[in-house]
Amino acid sequence: MFVSPVYTEGKITGAILFILDVTEQAKAELIRREFSANVSHELKTPLTSINGFAEMIEGGMAKDPTDVRKFASLIHREAQRLISLIDDILRLSRIEEADPQASFEPVNLHALAGEILGSLAHIAADKTVVIELTGTDVVLSANRRMMDELIYNLVDNAVKYNKSGGKVSIKTGLFEGCAVLTVSDTGIGIPREHQSRIFERFYRVDKSRSKESGGTGLGLSIVKHIVERHQGSITLESASDAGTAITVRLPIKIQRDPA
Ligand code: ADP
Repeated sequence: MFVSPVYTEGKITGAILFILDVTEQAKAELIRREFSANVSHELKTPLTSINGFAEMIEGGMAKDPTDVRKFASLIHREAQRLISLIDDILRLSRIEEADPQASFEPVNLHALAGEILGSLAHIAADKTVVIELTGTDVVLSANRRMMDELIYNLVDNAVKYNKSGGKVSIKTGLFEGCAVLTVSDTGIGIPREHQSRIFERFYRVDKSRSKESGGTGLGLSIVKHIVERHQGSITLESASDAGTAITVRLPIKIQRDPA
């Protein structure tokens, strides 16, 4: 609060009072602080492992070539984890900073989903998961790279957190001026108590399962940011052990920010 007296001919005749609501600013500051702490922690875990395995080789604990290879492969895995983490952190900060409207173009969500389905086909086949694409063409004004990332992350999760022999369905369409994309799966589902938190950075329901499949806990927060940047909304329906459906609604034409 800022208060200043108002003088008229040397006498106080009033006061000006400024009341600023700093809630958003304080919240943003807190999120930034938490993010730095989380990033440090997430990076430290694989680095500690790398350090430990390297020390064991250095100290002669790996006697024969098989042991050396085993330690090398563990170091390799942890180093790859570090790279994925840094990639995702950079991607997230690019999305936060970029002005997506600067590079908006017509994007057909149905066609794009078809391309992504092709690039995930081998991962799905390895897990004996079938992906199907239904619905209609729907063209919206959007940042193509971000749309690609959004669909990829959702479908990748739907495959990753599926069961063998499971199914992933992608559906696109137009509803009330919005492009609607639903990615549903017959996977492990998300327990109710975790549902409100999975869009947070680094939040994972089952840390070890996510890590095993190369997850960083950043995929859905990237999705959420992209949706916000396109003035859209996202909803989640999920039941433990039955599956998950995530629906994204994006206006075909977004309201331009006033210049
Ligand atoms: P990750 O890199 O761990 O996959 P995400 O941000 O993409 O991170 O997802 C956060 C967490 O939400 C995951 O670790 C997982 O526990 C849960 N999750 C996301 N998508 C699904 C899904 N389709 N089915 C079940 N759980 C999911």
